Parts: sequence; C-alpha cells; structure tokens
Amino acid sequence: MINSQLLTDNLAEQVAVEAIKFYLAPDVVKTLKQMMINDIKKSVEDEKKLAHDTLFNALFKSLAPFEKKFQAMLKRIWGEEERILIANIKKMKKAWLVKDKVDDILYPTSIFEKKLEKGASQICIEVMEKEGPRVVNLYDFDMIFDVQNPEVTKWLKSYTPMFSEKLEEVNVKRLRATLIEGIEAGEGVPGLTNRVYTLYKDWGFKRAEDIAQNQVIRASNKAALNVYRQSGVVEKKIWVTHFSPNTCAHCEQLDGTTIGLEENFFDLGDESRVEVEGKEQVLKMNYETIDAPPLHNRGRCTVGAVVD
Ligand SMILES: [Zn+2]
Repeated sequence: MINSQLLTDNLAEQVAVEAIKFYLAPDVVKTLKQMMINDIKKSVEDEKKLAHDTLFNALFKSLAPFEKKFQAMLKRIWGEEERILIANIKKMKKAWLVKDKVDDILYPTSIFEKKLEKGASQICIEVMEKEGPRVVNLYDFDMIFDVQNPEVTKWLKSYTPMFSEKLEEVNVKRLRATLIEGIEAGEGVPGLTNRVYTLYKDWGFKRAEDIAQNQVIRASNKAALNVYRQSGVVEKKIWVTHFSPNTCAHCEQLDGTTIGLEENFFDLGDESRVEVEGKEQVLKMNYETIDAPPLHNRGRCTVGAVVD
C-alpha cells in the first residue's frame, strides 16, 4: 500500500517505471523502448529538417532576384552575339560557305568575354553586398562586412575572367560545331541562321538558369567565407548540403564535412568518389579549387561557420 501523501512527482515516476518493468513481459518492454527511441529519433530528424529548410528557404529567397538579373544579363549578351552571327551569315554568299570561313561568321569573342566578365562581376558584387550582412546577422557577429576588402576583390579579379573565358569557349565550340555541320550538309543562309536561332533559343531556357544559379550561389558562399575571415572568431567551416530529391551522392557525402577556414574541400584536379548502388562514381574538380560550394553545376549547397 502506497501512502499517497508521500508520493512526489519524482517518486511517482519511479514507481510507474518499476511497475511497468515488473508487469510487462520483456518483449513488450523491448517494443516500448524501440517505439520511444524511434519517437526521439524522429523528433531530432524533424528538428534537423526544419533547421535545414529554414536556412535554405531564407538563402534562396535572398538569391532569387540576383539569379533573375544574371539570367537577363546572359540573355542580353547572347542576344547581341546572335544578332552579329545572323548578320554575318546573311552577308555570306552560298559559295563562300565553306568550313574554313566559319571564323568569319563568328562574333568578336574577346569583346564578348569582356562584356560577360563585367556583367558577372557587377552582379557578384551586388550578391555579396547583400549576402555578407545577412550572414553577419545570422551568426550575430560583431562586425561590418566590407565588400571592398582585398580578399573579395582578389577573388572577383581571378574568377570572373576565368568564368567568362570558359563560357565563351563553350559557346564558340558549340556554334562552330553546328555551323560546320550545316555547311557540310550543304545548307545555305536560311539553314545556318536557323541553326543559330535554335542554339540560342535552347540556351535561353535551362542553360541560362543553371549558369545564373551557379554563379549567384558561388558569390553568396564566397561572401560567407569572407565574413567568417573578417569576423576573427571563426577557425573552421562546414559543408552544408542542400537536400532535395535531386541531391547527388557527392554532395550528400560532403554534408557536415568540417575543415580549417583556409583549407580546401578539394584542390583543382582532385576527385570526389562515391559508391552508388555498388558502382563507383567519380567527379573530377576541373573548374576551380573548391574552398566553398557549389561542387558542380546546379549545386545548391552552402558553407557554414564553426564557432567554438
Ligand atoms: Zn551535388
């Protein structure tokens, strides 16, 4: 018989636990225990998912206007290229349309590289101007982010020329290939202009969006890295993967990887190796050193600060 007046909450709980142990068969205890473990695991998972979604929703909302602006900039420059190409093709007589005349049709690449570099650089600065202070707030760092600091300038000066040069290289390669194909097939002015229209029309959809997203999230993550540097209190950084049905195994594997602030996740030429359904997949870093995400085209991951 238990004296109810002596029964404190704490004691009541102990009695209950003991009673359950005593009355329940071992397999029932086991099941109950597993149910509780699953419940706790689920609530931890739910909390993690909520934190993940909150972080990325805020990030993507902040970046969306810049992605649109970047896309518009690309389409404007590509539109100019297209007009020059079409005009050049129309100047040609059918008899001149031979393979080694392709370069006469092309637009002046170096001028367009410069335009692209200028446009990309401008938008990257705008992204960093907005993202820097946002990250400062997120961590409540006692500092003012300076977009003019030498690290940011150094990155922009090395990255944007490389970006525009590589992008133009791809454009020219694809244009040359389709023009040569058309010439070899005996197509005249209408056939070739049509090829140019089709290519730029295609680029205007998914490719422009992919490139814009990639550049904008890159600039945003560089801003975060520079905030961490300028804060003076961050020594390590962490890879934060964006989980969605499209997340690749490489990014999934990287989630939570923590390294020194000045270290690289991958150096140029390094490889990321993952196993998917028993098969090894290799991703070679041949674009740039990965000191922050994105890992690849369409990558949506970000970089966090580890503060002790
Ligand atoms: Zn990925």
